[in-house]
Amino acid sequence: MIVSLRTFRKKMKENHRKLRRYLGRLEKDPAPGLDKMAEQIDAEVWAETDCLACGNCCKRMTPTFKRKDVLRISAHLNMTPAAFTEKWLVYEKKDGDWINKKQPCQFLDRKTNRCSIYAVRPADCAGFPYLKKKKMKDYLHVHQQNVEYCPASYRMVEKLMERVVI
Ligand code: SF4
Ligand code: SF4
Repeated sequence: MIVSLRTFRKKMKENHRKLRRYLGRLEKDPAPGLDKMAEQIDAEVWAETDCLACGNCCKRMTPTFKRKDVLRISAHLNMTPAAFTEKWLVYEKKDGDWINKKQPCQFLDRKTNRCSIYAVRPADCAGFPYLKKKKMKDYLHVHQQNVEYCPASYRMVEKLMERVVI
């Protein structure tokens, strides 16, 4: 079963509070073997999730751009790092991150749902949504935010709830 963005939005509206509460409880009382479970669930989730049919992270969220990302992407675009930053990014004081000025991301090709700079995309995009980030218990608060935007994160939590009842 491939999760569609439309189905996800409907389910998310109905259930995201329940999933967030579950992740909060899991953070306080992490199940033994959580990291191993996350590895298995990660494989299952990607077998039924098609990012090209979704692109919601590129439409509704922003990656963070580290210095290395800016150097790599600006060189790819034949721009100076300063011109790249000036054109596309804004500095968020609260978290100390460079993020996109606008959403959807300027590098998303809206016709194909593909990233136009895929080979040099920010490391944050390459790792998102970090379903098997070690230690998983230290990342549950981020999954709490991501379930609202990412069908893969949402499905991961559904699968966790089937395995770990708390
Ligand atoms: S850089 Fe590419 S993968 Fe990252 S948010 Fe933009 S379009 Fe998506
Ligand atoms: S990572 Fe999540 S939000 Fe982004 S395209 Fe894939 S399923 Fe959609």
